[in-house]
Parts: sequence; structure tokens; C-alpha cells
Amino acid sequence: MDPMEVLTNFSQLEAFLQPIFSADEHIVIGYEILGRYKTDKGYESLGPFFSDHSVPEEYRIDVDNIILEQALAKLADQEDECFIFINRDPHLLMYDHGEGFLEIIKRYFPEQKMHRIVLELSEKSFSGNMESLLHLLTYYKTYGIKIAIDHLGVDSHLDRISAISPQILKISLDHLKMQRWDTFADTISLWGELSRKMGATLLFENIETVYQLQFAWRHGGRYYQGFYLAQPSPAAIGRESLKERFKRECHSFIDSEKMSLEKKYDEKKKLQLELERCVRKSRAASGERQPLLELAKMLESYAFRLYVCDEDGFQKSPNFLKTNQGWSIQEHYIDKNWSWRPYFLKTIIKMRNDQEGFLSDSYSDIETAQTIRTFSLPLRDNEYLFIDISYEYLYEHNIF
Ligand code: CA
Repeated sequence: MDPMEVLTNFSQLEAFLQPIFSADEHIVIGYEILGRYKTDKGYESLGPFFSDHSVPEEYRIDVDNIILEQALAKLADQEDECFIFINRDPHLLMYDHGEGFLEIIKRYFPEQKMHRIVLELSEKSFSGNMESLLHLLTYYKTYGIKIAIDHLGVDSHLDRISAISPQILKISLDHLKMQRWDTFADTISLWGELSRKMGATLLFENIETVYQLQFAWRHGGRYYQGFYLAQPSPAAIGRESLKERFKRECHSFIDSEKMSLEKKYDEKKKLQLELERCVRKSRAASGERQPLLELAKMLESYAFRLYVCDEDGFQKSPNFLKTNQGWSIQEHYIDKNWSWRPYFLKTIIKMRNDQEGFLSDSYSDIETAQTIRTFSLPLRDNEYLFIDISYEYLYEHNIF
């Protein structure tokens, strides 16, 4: 795209609106404003124009503002008062200390309606003064303007994001084409955790298939955007235009998720009962090797490692580790302390109070790097048995 062509043909600029849907009501809750340029072959995205740093800042701001005003004219008087997601390059926003942007918003909205504005920013490439940007965003927030972090990715600065304290985090599902789903799911879980801590809402964009929609739903997405739901277009669409279809699809997600959770629950219960039965049958205690070794053999098809700790996390028995040659006893683990491990003391307190076994979430074992779970249960006074369940068992029974 030739920037000069854009700059000499403002009449060819058109604000497109891409609907954003919500999972709680299955309706359109907002629109992201996207800049388009009309050519003989149809509309082209203005993305490349905005990221072209050879175009002087003033000109890019001009074009940005023309698109913004067009969109606000389309949306400001809407009855359903949906949110309006506005992309801004933080660098261009700071060019006039954020005043130009606020002036335009004020022209279209009285102060009590400014909560409809969501400012989308990407912090990644911002090289200006962070303090000033934060100051401006805090000022915007006093008007009720919301902040969304755009293009969340592996290269995002978590410290900046938590300083900005956005209300919305936008995650693109583009990644699903390039990355493995399971690795991506781990990253998403971390962002989900971060958003919960910050009180932010997850918005998934670039949803192009029903599988991506399901992925977004399963990973805590409240808002959704993408071709699969609705293409960007010059006009707003009916608020409920997708309601029935979206609701139906969500229902099928709910059904299949419930079924899968039910299956997992049964498998986990079965495993716990079986492990508890074996332990009760044995006379396992920390001081004696033989009963523990016998127990290890009984648990062979489930576990690859077991050991006993006291309630402060000091290991009271050796490790019993399954190898190709049978069970090996690793004496040097005695007296090591595990209280520093996440959830360790929490699990001990739970076991001590409930006097029953506990199956951990799955996690990556520091020695084998494999995904495992640990089943722990109180053995006797101040002794707790830890049984590490093998990856093979978890995989076979689908209880990662
Ligand atoms: Ca955006």
C-alpha cells in the first residue's frame, strides 16, 4: 500500500466494525474499529499504513482520527450502547499527551457514556516513557474508559501489563496454526491466572473455526471475535443476530466438557481407591525398607516413585524408584527437605485435617520432565506417603 495514495484520498477511508460477542448472553457486546482503504479491487486493511514508520506521525494520527470519527458517528447513538474498542499505538497516543484522543471522544460522548470506550494498546513495542503513559491511562480511567491489552504473546511484558492493570486481555488464536495446542494451552492458563489476579476479562480474537471457539470457551474466554462469528463490515449488526447459533454451540461445548470431566472424575476416583486399598493392605512405614518395597511392587502399574515425608517436608524414607531392572532404593534422598515445593505444606495441612488421600493436579516432574500427578496420604502420626503416578498411566486413562 502506497502511503501517499492514502494521504491524498481521505474520501476512500472507511471505518469497519468487527463484532465482539459475549459468552454470558451470546450477544454482540461491542465492536472493534478497523481501518480500511477502498481500492478498485475492494477494501484493503490500513494495518500496513499504520505500522509504516516512514510515514510522519502527524499523518498517521490524522488517518487514525478520521477512521475513529467515522466509527463513532456510526456507533455513538446506538440504542444498545455496546462497547467500542479503539486501537491506538501508545507512541502516537503520547504524541500530544493523549489530548487529541480524549477531545474526539468527548465530542461524541457525554462523560457518563465514556465507559463504552475500550482503548486497545499493545505494550510490546512501546519505547517511550512508561511513567507518562501510565499516568495518562490512569487519567483516562477516571472517565470510565477501559483499557485492553492487545496482541498478548510470549513476548509481552508482564510487569508492564500488571502496572497498566487493564480490564481486558486480548489473545489471538493465530498461534493455534503455528504452535502445538497443548503448549499454547499452558501459556493460556498462565494468562488466565494473571487475568483472574488482576480482575481482567479474557477476549479471544481471530477465531476462525468452531474448534478455536471451543478452545476459547474452555480456557476462560468471556469475549470472542473472529471470522467464524462475524466478519468486519462497514455497519453494525443486530445485537442478537448470532444468539441462537452461538447458544447452541456453547451448549454442545458444555455437554462434551461435562462428559469429559465426568469420565476424568471417575478415573481419578478409581485410581485413588485402588492406591488407598494397596496402602492399607501393606504395613508401609518410613523406618522399614521391606514393606515399602512390597508396596512399591503392588503399585507397579500406577506409579514410578514413592517415598515418605514428615509434616515439615523432611524425607524419612529413601526414594523407591522404578527402573528397567526393577525397583531401586535411593538412600541419599533421606533427610532432604521438600517444604519449598509449591503446594507441599498446603497438601500436608489438608491431609492432616481431612485424614484422607489427595491427588495433585498434573505438573512437570523436575527430574524426569514428564507430566505426572502425585497421590499423597497420611500413613501414621507425622508420616505422609507420596506416590508419583507415571505419565503412562495418566496418558492411558486420560487424566493429565
Ligand atoms: Ca486490536
